[in-house]
Parts: sequence; C-alpha cells; structure tokens
Amino acid sequence: MSPEQSVSLPASGARRRVGVMGGTFDPIHNGHLVAASEVADRFGLDEVVFVPTGRPWQKRQVTAAEDRYLMTVIATASNPRFSVSRVDIDRAGDTYTVDTLKDLRSLRPDTDLFFITGADALASILSWQDWEEMFSLATFVGVTRPGYHLAADHLSDAQRDRLFLVEVPALAISSTECRARADAGRPVWYLVPDGVVQYIAKRRLYSSRPERGPGPEA
Ligand code: ATP
Repeated sequence: MSPEQSVSLPASGARRRVGVMGGTFDPIHNGHLVAASEVADRFGLDEVVFVPTGRPWQKRQVTAAEDRYLMTVIATASNPRFSVSRVDIDRAGDTYTVDTLKDLRSLRPDTDLFFITGADALASILSWQDWEEMFSLATFVGVTRPGYHLAADHLSDAQRDRLFLVEVPALAISSTECRARADAGRPVWYLVPDGVVQYIAKRRLYSSRPERGPGPEA
C-alpha cells in the first residue's frame, strides 16, 4: 500500500475530529509540526493535541517532562488548531499510548480521535501495550518520514481498516540530531521553532559542556 492510496476522508458528522500527536518531544522539531499540520488539513481536523510522554517505555534517558512540555507549548502556541495535553506527564508510571487514548476519550467524550504516528513508530506498533484495544480507540494515521519505509503489511486487515497512510512534506529532522547539534554548539535554528531555540539556550538543555562562570572573558 503506497501512502496516498488509502486516503479517503471518513464521513464527517457533528462530532469533533481531534488529532493526537504523541511523542517524547525532546525537543519538539519542525518535522513533528509539519506532520501534524498536514494531517489536520487532509483530515479536516478541528484540533491536534500534542501529548508529550511522561516516562516513555522505549526510551530511558529523556529531558525533564516539564522542559519537554514547555517546549511543546512554545512550539504550538502560534497555531490556533494546536493544543498540548499533560495527560501523559501527569499519569504515574510508564507511558503507553492505550492509556493516552483512554484518558483523552474520557476528557473529550464526543470526539473522534486520529492518532498520528511516523513511519518508524508504525513499524513497531504491534509491540505496543494492548495494541488491540488501542486500535479500537482511534483511527491511526501513519505519516511518511525520510529514511523510513511507510508500510502496513505487518498489520491485519482489521487494523488496516483503522489506518490511513499519508504523505507529508519530507523534513529529515530528528530530536536526536537536534540534541547532538545543541551539544556540539552547532545551530538548531530552523530545525525547531525560534522560541524552542531560545528555550534550549536559556535552560542549557542538551549541553554536556560545563557552564562558563562569570569572569572577565564572559
Ligand atoms: P528521537 O530522535 O529522540 O528518537 P524523534 O525525532 O523520533 O525523536 P519523537 O518525539 O520520538 O521524535 O516522535 C514523535 C512522533 O513524531 C513519532 O510518531 C515519530 O515517528 C514522528 N516524527 C518524528 N520526526 C518526524 C519527521 N521528521 N517526519 C515525520 N514524522 C516524524
């Protein structure tokens, strides 16, 4: 199945259509934002909620949740259709998408949820906790990402019925690359929103180098 083949808009009704963009966002970058914006446009979404993970079960070493949350707020502030949820940050224990979707559904009862996920994450989706229940809670939208093959061959027919594959503008950006650049003192301008560049600098995130103390040369 190629990205564009499966896209046809589900029938619209009175229910709100809400996209869910889950991620570690360490830091949030323009690849995340472009993917969310494109899916919002293609699916006629009323809103896209960005949900920074609390404790991601796949990644052990991540920046403090409050920093990742604030960067996500800063990055999404200029788009009236974007919002940020703390459900995963405020829930104790490891973060599983099934819990994210359950929480969002109970907070927003009259909504249809569209969970947006990149090609890399989609490839491993069957290893996610309670994936059968997960597929019953939302429509899934797999988006293209440079360097990864977007495919749904590993899913059953029933799961594929709940999945759309969408081509989004290709931005070869990863949070890993942004962290490495910041650590090396190289620019992250235009890879992440301006406010996030400033937040990273101000909080000295991702820098393993010791802070320079005040002195004549500082
Ligand atoms: P890291 O490099 O730390 O693993 P990441 O860049 O993959 O991070 P995440 O926060 O883990 O960012 O990603 C959240 C979601 O956004 C995932 O579904 C991921 O596949 C998707 N995503 C990340 N970067 C892109 C991109 N450049 N284009 C499309 N989707 C992306």
